[in-house]
Amino acid sequence: MRSLHAKLVMIMVLLILSLMLVVGAFLINSVTAFYLEDFYTQVAEVFRDPGLAHDLTTVSSGDEDAAQMLSDVLRAYYGELGVDSRNRRLYILDSNGTCLVRPDGETGPLEYTPNLTFALSTGLETGESGDESSLSADYMDVAIPIQRGDASYIIYIYDNRNMASSLTDQMFMLIMESLIFGLVISILLSFLLSKTMVTPIQRLTEGAMRVAEGDFSHRIVVESRDEIGVLTDTFNDMAGQLQTTLRQVDNERSKLDTLFLRMTDGVVAFNTRGMVIHNNPAAARMLRRSIGPETTYDELFSQAAPLAQVLAAPDHLESEMKVRDSFLQLLMAPFDRGREGGGALVVIHDITEQRKNEKNQRDFVANVSHELRTPLTNIRSYAETLQDSAGELPLEMEKKFLGVILNESDRMTNIVQDLLTLSRLDSGQDDIKLASFSFSQAVLDQYNAVYMEAQRHRHILSLELEPGLPDVIGDRARIMQVMMNIVSNAIKYTPDGGHITIAAGRLGGRVWMEVDDNGIGVPEEDRPHIFDRFYRVDKARSRQSGGTGLGLSIAREIVERHQGELTLVDKPGPGLRVRLELKIGGPSHD
Ligand code: ATP
Ligand code: MG
Repeated sequence: MRSLHAKLVMIMVLLILSLMLVVGAFLINSVTAFYLEDFYTQVAEVFRDPGLAHDLTTVSSGDEDAAQMLSDVLRAYYGELGVDSRNRRLYILDSNGTCLVRPDGETGPLEYTPNLTFALSTGLETGESGDESSLSADYMDVAIPIQRGDASYIIYIYDNRNMASSLTDQMFMLIMESLIFGLVISILLSFLLSKTMVTPIQRLTEGAMRVAEGDFSHRIVVESRDEIGVLTDTFNDMAGQLQTTLRQVDNERSKLDTLFLRMTDGVVAFNTRGMVIHNNPAAARMLRRSIGPETTYDELFSQAAPLAQVLAAPDHLESEMKVRDSFLQLLMAPFDRGREGGGALVVIHDITEQRKNEKNQRDFVANVSHELRTPLTNIRSYAETLQDSAGELPLEMEKKFLGVILNESDRMTNIVQDLLTLSRLDSGQDDIKLASFSFSQAVLDQYNAVYMEAQRHRHILSLELEPGLPDVIGDRARIMQVMMNIVSNAIKYTPDGGHITIAAGRLGGRVWMEVDDNGIGVPEEDRPHIFDRFYRVDKARSRQSGGTGLGLSIAREIVERHQGELTLVDKPGPGLRVRLELKIGGPSHD
């Protein structure tokens, strides 16, 4: 009963059955009614016939065998009355109800039906006939009283309705047969019809199932233009829409996934119970630990803010925490609050570099003020002494003091000059002026420039220049400034009578220069820092030699602008070897 097939067949069968039943009942009923009515009209017509009335007058009451005579008269009308003495019989009774004439061969007693009783009682006096018969009775009859002189008779016609019932039986059989035929045909038809209706529905169902399983490319072929056809069309449209929408969603998700995976900020999402539901590699890297579905919020961020506080936050919370030596800034926000699948999202931003820069900035300012204050204090104290002594000091002393004051102010000028250079390099205002120049000539010029100074310190200054070095592209003045700093450092930080070697050569697409000395060198722990601003290994000694600790940082800045390298070379023995490398083609513009 579940299938549409069965339902359709059922409907057809019920329809045919009810139709046939109604038609059958109606037909049988009307046949019986017609038979009944026909009988009474026939009787009424015959008895209204003046011929019969005339014939009846020939029989007089005085006749001894009046009843038999009446019967003879009536026999002529048997055809018209349909009396055949088997199914329809005629009787003649006297007023007492005694049967005077009956069909031949009939012997049994006569049944006194209501019509007969009526005629015998009321009819004899009023002349009314008993002519009422119900449709459901299995007989019909009519009792007609007639008056012959002073004697009364009842003409009684009884019909056992065998004719009618055999007719209705036949009709019933006919109806039954046609019912069976009709049923067979209707079942066959409904099977065929339901096939045309059910097949598209089955196809639609199959399609819907495939869509439900996620196969959105499947399209159902529409053959009919009826409601099912429209439904199929609509379904195909819907599947198409779903497919495009899903593809868009998929696109968005893969975009987000890529973003999530590649972003430099760490992201961790938690459900309301504090279990990790998502995290990206950056988060694990920043938190310096592995993160899995078992990891909880408390393990990761309990020191920053409790989960309940994050979940209750109106918008977001900001917090910070330290993991080993890095500083992490945390942005914590609830999502889908109060709904299934909600939770908290934590975005981690590494601010170590920023912190370091801030510290550098602070250190730098402190350093600058300190560096400027020292010479200023000196100038002030010497100037004060000069002022206080007011000409009482020997001239020599005064000269010496003034010399110190001049020296210190030169030193301040140098520092300010260096700072200006640095800040210009930092802000990128100070564009380097690129031009082609001879690298070997620059090295040679450098050698010549410091030769006298080296002599003064009794250093042995040697030059090892590879022949045929190419011209390079760069800012010659700036490169010379870098070279000067390296070479003068070597002279400065090597005790008198040392060995200093300047060497230059080419390696692939680059040229290099190395300055090697056998001086005091730089201890291992200071080596990473000597390019930092104001960094000096031995403050007192550097100050003595007029150094500010800015030289190498300016040099490295300049070299980096040329996309070259300025490094310390590991070497055995005392002293330091500094190496400068430059691209022959100059900095590329990428
Ligand atoms: P400035 O160059 O500004 O006059 P500076 O020479 O002291 O001052 P840098 O050139 O930046 O500063 O050098 C930084 C520090 O590195 C020096 O103070 C020194 O301690 C160390 N240093 C540099 N070159 C040598 C070297 N050849 N031998 C030993 N120590 C060196
Ligand atoms: Mg220097």
